[in-house]
Amino acid sequence: MRPVADITPLLDLAHARALDWLARVPTRPVGATATRAQLLHALGGALPWQGAPAADVLDALCAGVEPGLVSTVGPRYFGFVTGGAVPVTVATEWLASAWDQNGALYVMSPAAAVVEDIVSGWVLELLGLPASASVGFVTGCHMANFTCLAAARHEVLRRHEWDVETQGLQRAPAITVVVGGEVHVSITGALRMLGIGTSELRVANADGQGRMRPDALAAQLAGVTGPVIVCAQAGNVNTGASDPLHAILSIAHAHGAWVHVDGAFGLWAAAVPELAPQVASLSQADSWATDAHKWLNVPYDSGLAIVAHPAPHRAALSLRASYLQRGDDEERMGMDWVPESSRRARGFALYTLIRTLGREGLIDLFRRSCAHARDMAQQLAAVPGLSILNDVVLNQVLVRCSSPRHDGDDDEMTRRVMASIQAEGTCWAGGAVWQGRQVLRISVSNWSTTREDIARSAEAIARAYRAHCATDASASA
Ligand SMILES: *Cc1c(COP(=O)(O)O)cnc(C)c1O
Repeated sequence: MRPVADITPLLDLAHARALDWLARVPTRPVGATATRAQLLHALGGALPWQGAPAADVLDALCAGVEPGLVSTVGPRYFGFVTGGAVPVTVATEWLASAWDQNGALYVMSPAAAVVEDIVSGWVLELLGLPASASVGFVTGCHMANFTCLAAARHEVLRRHEWDVETQGLQRAPAITVVVGGEVHVSITGALRMLGIGTSELRVANADGQGRMRPDALAAQLAGVTGPVIVCAQAGNVNTGASDPLHAILSIAHAHGAWVHVDGAFGLWAAAVPELAPQVASLSQADSWATDAHKWLNVPYDSGLAIVAHPAPHRAALSLRASYLQRGDDEERMGMDWVPESSRRARGFALYTLIRTLGREGLIDLFRRSCAHARDMAQQLAAVPGLSILNDVVLNQVLVRCSSPRHDGDDDEMTRRVMASIQAEGTCWAGGAVWQGRQVLRISVSNWSTTREDIARSAEAIARAYRAHCATDASASA
């Protein structure tokens, strides 16, 4: 066995195939082109009894997956809220795989633990959050929400003399959980896993931009005395708008509530001086969940669970001593802060990202996305029949396509335009139902998007819309 000799041709092959892929991204259709059946045909087959040369397997994988890959790494993918991958973070992930470190325990990788500590400090500073907060490196914002809400559940029950980790939830004092009318599904999903069902949630209505209304929150909390958790949001997944955190925090904290902020992408507004007022008072919250694989543009899977109070954070997740204060120079046990035990060392890519871009480069990345979103909105709004339904305050744009026929169905027209855009391949945008109306949803979250990409994409969207209008006109003529 000569391990280095064995792996060299494989890494060379992976390197070459990765470069081929990245070179094709600018010109290939943004979406996938193969059907599910075609992918199954190309990649499937009986469970192999005998192995095959690794290089052949890699080559066959590359060929088989190509038509099923989506160019989320490229500049004109606007679906969901999807970041790409800044080059240095891709290279770092290759090294992280070669190093194959386990982030669970200090002794399993002192390097991974120390890098996570350093990145934690930088992230807290970037976001203007308390330097004493604890940070868990999780798979994404869904698990960040879960982690933070586990800490919340621990703490609000502890204040009512209940230790949920040993006594469970079945006879515990009832927790009042308030969410906004536009709560993200990952909050309800996380709460479900924590024993709090969707029909138990109190909903504080949202305004026309999806922001929780403080008066609605006050009404939901009136007369409530037991344990309370309030789930606020920075960056609505459709509009990008953030809840009025200052008002929400003062109402919720007056009721002794734990306030959690789901800020998968919107939390990063805090890092940009002119956007920070959208999340004013953010640092007063009790916990914050965010993603690194969205707006920070590191590869999947990477999210951050941040808790202002390390003791309940650790008590909720740690599998060792349940209630220890964290010493200043204590070694980091990665598994104290996340739901997993063994896991990938996720801090390395964030480390090289932050050192490569610096605070300035990160601010520039967020600013550019917002400017591109405004440009996109402006260019689409100039097309007769297209309208923008949200205030473009961040990186999100909601587009509505009206049918030129007076008896026409705008929902249907919007869906048809969306399908055409996806099939045509210049760019990719998905849909959503926003306050009862079908919209085309555009999120600008990729570091590599340029003004030219926005112009090309806006043209493609306008073209698709005009084509449908022309079809309808000739059908009714
Ligand atoms: C994307 C998103 C999540 C879930 O994040 P994942 O990375 O998919 O786990 C949660 N909240 C908001 C507001 C989001 O946009």
